[in-house]
Amino acid sequence: MGEIAIIDAHIHLSNISKFRRTAVELSGVDYSAAGLEAEFRRNDVVLGIGMGVTETLAGGFPDERSANPMGLDMASTSATAAAGELPSFVMECVGINPVRLAGDSAMRQRELDAIEQALQRESVVGIKLYAGYYHYYVHDAVYEPVYELAARYRLPIVIHTGDTYSDRGLLKYSHPLTVDELAVRHRELTFVICHLGDPWVMDGAEVVYKNPNVFADLSGVLVGGREHFARRMGEPLLMEHFRRPLVYADCYDKMLYGSDWPLTPIGVYIDFVRRLVPEKYHEQVFYRNALEVFPRVRARLAGI
Ligand SMILES: [Zn+2]
Repeated sequence: MGEIAIIDAHIHLSNISKFRRTAVELSGVDYSAAGLEAEFRRNDVVLGIGMGVTETLAGGFPDERSANPMGLDMASTSATAAAGELPSFVMECVGINPVRLAGDSAMRQRELDAIEQALQRESVVGIKLYAGYYHYYVHDAVYEPVYELAARYRLPIVIHTGDTYSDRGLLKYSHPLTVDELAVRHRELTFVICHLGDPWVMDGAEVVYKNPNVFADLSGVLVGGREHFARRMGEPLLMEHFRRPLVYADCYDKMLYGSDWPLTPIGVYIDFVRRLVPEKYHEQVFYRNALEVFPRVRARLAGI
């Protein structure tokens, strides 16, 4: 690389036992703030956007008991721990647990207040929904107060779509077509569908193509280390599966690079996305589109 700066629009830095195990057994990355910083530096990544998620018990993810908002509970370094701030190379989308917003009204108000307080932090750049992991459609009324907050603070809604990295997920809730209804109902909001809805990538591409307020990230569609990627990238049918929706939608101004680290090493995933996206769109996909979606990222990087 070396020529263009990169924003990684989708990483994790939370103590989730399945992520830790994937890092050790499949991707081989050092799953820590220091490990992330080292990989970012090696690959010219100037900023990562962490998707907040927590579990109250090891193996609990997706955890119905996690309090709102869910954050990056592994992000603090020795330099930042005291202040409770994120390191400079990470910003955050706070995660929402809808189960605790569906319960009694006192708890709902308490948790909505906590979410709103978090949205006032400059380092919070959006809100993450875990559709499929939690068994609610994204157009369910339970999320409406969250959408009101997103509108008030002008922050995008980032939505997990497609395969769930847990067999307790329910796929009908994570299909990318469910975002179409939400995007039409809330034209004032910006949405990002994660993983382009994989394996329903053509459906994901259509939702992006049709809706002016929907973007997609290309993160996490392959999970593993360098050898695994080499083998999978040598399979033309698989590469075609990911290229076809990009060619069909032909909106490289709405596709964002993201890795889903620690599920894959950063450098390996950058190479993969560089192979999928025509070179003339690299600057948009690896950097500029993230500035469009995340105004607070633009503000943070304005000086660079
Ligand atoms: Zn993720």
